[in-house]
Amino acid sequence: MMLQHTTSCTLNMIPPILDDENYQNTPDNEDFFSRRCIWVNGPVIVGAGPSGLAVAAGLKRQGVPFVVIEREDCIASLWQKRTYNRLKLHLPKQFCQLPNFPFPEKFPEYPSKFQFIEYLESYAKHFDITPQFNETVQSAKYDETFGLWRVKTTTAGNDAVVVEYLCRWLVVATGENAEKVVPEFDGLEEFCGDVMHACDYRSGEGHRGKRVLVVGCGNSGMEVSLDLCNHNAKPSMVVRSSVHVLPREIVGKSTFELAVVLMKWFPVWVVDKILLIIARIIFGNLEKHGLKRPEIGPIQLKNTQGRTPVLDIGALKKIRSGQIKVVPGIKNFSKTSVHLLDGTNLEIDSVVLATGYRSNVPSWLKLINPISLTVMENDFFSEDGIPKNPFPLGWKGKGGLYAVGFTRRGLSGASLDAMSVSHDIAKSWKEETKQKKKSVAARHRRCISHF
Ligand SMILES: Cc1cc2nc3c(=O)[nH]c(=O)nc-3n(C[C@H](O)[C@H](O)[C@H](O)COP(=O)(O)OP(=O)(O)OC[C@H]3O[C@@H](n4cnc5c(N)ncnc54)[C@H](O)[C@@H]3O)c2cc1C
Repeated sequence: MMLQHTTSCTLNMIPPILDDENYQNTPDNEDFFSRRCIWVNGPVIVGAGPSGLAVAAGLKRQGVPFVVIEREDCIASLWQKRTYNRLKLHLPKQFCQLPNFPFPEKFPEYPSKFQFIEYLESYAKHFDITPQFNETVQSAKYDETFGLWRVKTTTAGNDAVVVEYLCRWLVVATGENAEKVVPEFDGLEEFCGDVMHACDYRSGEGHRGKRVLVVGCGNSGMEVSLDLCNHNAKPSMVVRSSVHVLPREIVGKSTFELAVVLMKWFPVWVVDKILLIIARIIFGNLEKHGLKRPEIGPIQLKNTQGRTPVLDIGALKKIRSGQIKVVPGIKNFSKTSVHLLDGTNLEIDSVVLATGYRSNVPSWLKLINPISLTVMENDFFSEDGIPKNPFPLGWKGKGGLYAVGFTRRGLSGASLDAMSVSHDIAKSWKEETKQKKKSVAARHRRCISHF
């Protein structure tokens, strides 16, 4: 049976930590005495996406209690609320399943986003994971004096409640794609048509007959452009620099799987060469269609800069036939058009920004210097919110801090992290629980001998 894992505590036990550089009796600190405070007998996991669920499942299997906090009202909110309808997993299902729960056999090789969501819902149900929804982590601070994390959240809605969780372990599972990236463009505010980020794009239905500028040529940019074509819109895709496009499959085998097999035998640069030769045979020279390849090979680029190659599922055919127009970088926008860096002017009706996402960790995870009480530089996460140590070493920090799902290796990287993290936490949780029991027993013995 699962232990009672949270306890509302009286606040005179632990004083508020001093927040910022010039600590004063700020409303934040006064408010500490009025907010709800909950002691968690186990880790707090931030984020109920695939990574957070996988850690939770691993802990459940080992009998460790935990709390999962999710800002949205559902699990896997990226997949449920911020992806287009035609999306399918880019990699075959065996590379995307979470630990200890295979995909149903009836699912195709590349499950649709709806099937993936169904799988994640059954995953959460199977392992009995019930996140606290509509609760956003605003800050998490490590209190060195007590060796505890203080995780402050607010609930959504008019009567927002502030809660502070106290715990020994903190698992960051908020993802590499927590916030959309919206670059600034000259004149975009003057543009009269619709402007949306790819996270708000569902299908090309509302764009029929329209001239749409798709900014970005990663997997999202390519697939949105393809979807627009399939709905009789007229997409122009902005390719500012270079991009690697590979076939999703080579003679019926997944390119990803082929690369994984080749890497067992050859160094990365050789595998890259092989993939590029095959791509050249299948696609021909893409440069004449405006798609220049980067100097570095696709796998090396992914490993060093996290840039994922595009796995083509039909957009290239539309580019070749001219149904998707490839255009150079943007100079500026005006009321009804976009001016491009090559001097051309394109009349457009709307814009889809397929300009990517970023981590939000730096906005809420703070480490406080115990002496000066100032916010310290984070030695675990870099400024862009990704662990500084590359895969497979980026899952464990100091003071009970863990990160899952920041490997730039998609769901397979997240699963590997989740297993390491849940085992590590379970080990220390069990040791600490045993010790607590011992010291309680010892105190008890002392009491008895006293009498
Ligand atoms: C369009 C698209 C397609 C993709 N396709 C694939 C694919 O085919 N294969 C693959 O392996 N990967 C794919 N990925 C990568 C994908 O992001 C990951 O594989 C997977 O979703 C990562 O899971 P995660 O749990 O780490 O992050 P997420 O799925 O992003 O989950 C993080 C959760 O944390 C929550 N959260 C964030 N901040 C807070 C906060 N402050 N407080 C509380 N909760 C918070 C979010 O609401 C979210 O629910 C794709 C990504 C995108 C954008």
